[in-house]
Order: sequence, then structure tokens, then C-alpha cells
Amino acid sequence: MIFDGPCVKVKRFVNEGMMICCCPLASGSKGNCVYVGTEETKILIDAGISYRQLVLRLSQMEISLDQIDAILITHEHADHISGLQTLTGKYPIPVLANSETAKGILEALSLHSKFKIFSTGESFEFGDLEIFPFSVQHDALDPVGFTVRREASQLGFCTDLGFATTLVKESLKKCDYLYLEANHQVSMVHSSNRPFLYKQRVLSRQGHLSNEACAELLSEIYHKGLKKVHLAHLSSECNSEELALKIVKERLDALGAEVELLIAYQDRASRPFILGSQALSSCDVR
Ligand SMILES: [Zn+2]
Ligand SMILES: [Zn+2]
Repeated sequence: MIFDGPCVKVKRFVNEGMMICCCPLASGSKGNCVYVGTEETKILIDAGISYRQLVLRLSQMEISLDQIDAILITHEHADHISGLQTLTGKYPIPVLANSETAKGILEALSLHSKFKIFSTGESFEFGDLEIFPFSVQHDALDPVGFTVRREASQLGFCTDLGFATTLVKESLKKCDYLYLEANHQVSMVHSSNRPFLYKQRVLSRQGHLSNEACAELLSEIYHKGLKKVHLAHLSSECNSEELALKIVKERLDALGAEVELLIAYQDRASRPFILGSQALSSCDVR
């Protein structure tokens, strides 16, 4: 596992206040989890990796699970919730989900902590974060993406969607940072040995976002305040990091956009970074 950011630096900047730290911990069909935290409030978005890996990847930022205030769940697919049972058995961290997703979770596993139910489409405050769960098109019960805001800083998280609706574009268009699905290259899905039903599902409007669709979405919502994007939930068989980066970069370059493009990895945590007043470029951990 690679992690080359000095953890103490992250902590120091966050402790200075007004800052949000974010770190994709795992992304892809084998498990998803992102850390977002301020000095006051620390959350995970999804818990689809093993307890052991979660502890390990958080510890690289000197964060332990007893500091986590809540786990937000996007939808009930296994790659987003498979770590919940063990995790909540050890730490009864509240799980924030809409009611349909909560039902889906309880059908799949035993939860050892309490749900806090939110309504899709209604923003709510949690600690010093303002969270907005918005509907996405995906073959789950009531799947959502999230924006997370602290003061003037806004982060957008949106994976597992078949296509980008007007609502998705509206929700993500003012973010300083995006964690956005670039799941597959359409031609690679067609030429793969995957079963027909798999191909049909992935390519459907309830499936996953292609590299081209991700590039199109980004080009539509790009604004000068958007500084950093993680391409997320890449298919291991029907995409490659190089291809996803190339296709999205070409579209952004055509707009003259200056955005740092990165990949959110499956097998290791990304570098944590800080978002806050003038923080993203100057205090990024390297
Ligand atoms: Zn997924
Ligand atoms: Zn899914």
C-alpha cells in the first residue's frame, strides 16, 4: 500500500479550522469508502471494505474508528455496505441512510448500531457539515449521491449512476472537489467476456457511468472553482486508469480547465487532501 503524505500535516491544517480533509479509501466493485472530516465532525461515505483494511487505511491519516461520528450510505449494494456488520459490531457508529436503503441494509446484514434516517432531496446538518443527499439513477432501492459543505467549501460524491440527470448536474455544479464515477469504456464492455446480462446492466440507464459520460458531465458542470477530481469506481476489466484519465482530460483541456485529475484506487487509499479557504492548492499533502 502506498501512502506518501505526511499525516501530521493533514491534522495540523484541519485543526486550524474551517478546513475539510477528504481521502478516498477504496473505490471500485470490490469495495467503496471515502473519509471526510473536519476538526469537529468526521464521517465515512459507504463502508464496503473489510474492518481490517478500514482500520489500516484510516490509521495512515492517524485517524481511528472511535473518532468517526457517522457512516453515510449511498445505496445497499454489497460493495458499499459489506464492511458494516463487523464495523458496527466493534464501534456502534450511527449509520445515516434513507429509509429504503436502511431496509435493504437490514435484509443483507445485521447492524449493531442505530440508523439515522434522512430524506432524499432534503439537506441536513450533521456536526459542522451540511449534507445534501440527491437521487441518482441506479438499480438499487433509493440510491443517492452526496454533497458535503463546510462554509464556502463543497465536495460532491457521485458514483453508481447510469446517467447524469439534470438533478445530478445541478447538485454537483458548484463543488470545489468531485469524486465522480468513470466506470467503464463502452467498447471494452462490449468486447469483454462478461455475460450478456452484465453488459446490459452496466450500460443501462440504471447502471454505471462510462468514461465518455463522465467527461461529458464534467464538461457541463465545470467552473473555475473546481480544483480537483477523483475518477472513481473504475471497472478492473472494462477500463484502465490511463484511458479514463485520457478521455476526461481531453474534454477538460478543450475547455481550458485547470483541474487536478486523479484516480481513486481500489487496493489502497489515495492521498488525503485539504479543502478550505485557499487550502486546496497550497496545503495539499504531497
Ligand atoms: Zn458500487
Ligand atoms: Zn451499486
